[in-house]
Amino acid sequence: MRLAGKTALITGAASGLGAAAVARMSQEGCRICLGDIQEDAGEALAASLGDDAFFIRCDVTREEDLAAAVDETVERFGQLDILFHSAGIVGAVGPLATTPGAEWRFSIDVLLNGTFYAMKHAARVMTPRRSGSIITMASTAGLMGGLGPHAYAAAKHAVVGLTKNVAAELAGHGVRVNAIAAASMATPMVANVLTGDPNDIEGAKAKLAEASPLRGRPGLPEDVANAVLWLASDESGYTTGHTLTTDAGITVGATPEGPEFAEYSP
Ligand code: NAD
Repeated sequence: MRLAGKTALITGAASGLGAAAVARMSQEGCRICLGDIQEDAGEALAASLGDDAFFIRCDVTREEDLAAAVDETVERFGQLDILFHSAGIVGAVGPLATTPGAEWRFSIDVLLNGTFYAMKHAARVMTPRRSGSIITMASTAGLMGGLGPHAYAAAKHAVVGLTKNVAAELAGHGVRVNAIAAASMATPMVANVLTGDPNDIEGAKAKLAEASPLRGRPGLPEDVANAVLWLASDESGYTTGHTLTTDAGITVGATPEGPEFAEYSP
């Protein structure tokens, strides 16, 4: 029970990494407010957890929805200890020349502005208690070029920067702020990209296993959920401003084939 007595708001909680974090954190005794725009899936997941969870419709492009989700969590559970902000989309895809401005702006709105609203309102209730853990969702595409669409990469780089800056401000208020930078994990978002079917999680796992530097080991939602659990718990109490990778070493140059210099090594 690593989160016994703690409460969390998880955005994007109805699917993928958010839903995996809901499952893992509730196993560890956390009470959870699930925020998402997918009402049926979010309601069903919350209902499966009984009185220790509830769903709230929360569109992260609307600051008032994040404010209400934070306030409702405090109203129902008495406090907010943890924010895991997982809501996201792939957003605008394609070359620079053909990326429509409106799609660019919407992508930034969901991925970056939503992160700002969520952090702002979580911090509003955490700082008076001088306690809290905020976890944002970045990506390997937020650490290196060439790993995702332009708007996605720009927003995720910005999420890493915002996480560091807010961590610097909130350290003095007892609130920790960290990001997770995941490579492709087997979620509906990635299954849709890799197989054209968001429900084909097994197909996505097979493709991710082939491309994994960790020889046949695909990235799983549970890998991110375990990272969230550590950052959410007091076990990471001296860690703030950090971007934790769950990427099989991709951002340090690991590839499925191994390093090119291997044959020249002594
Ligand atoms: P997913 O599509 O399975 O889940 C995303 C959830 O966010 C969905 O339930 C969706 O309804 C919700 N959502 C979308 N727009 C929203 C909005 N405006 N307001 C509220 N909720 C909204 O995707 P996922 O793979 O779980 O991705 C979660 C986060 O992790 C995203 O920020 C994504 O960019 C990031 N990420 C994912 C991967 C990966 O490989 N899966 C890797 C790196 C980063």
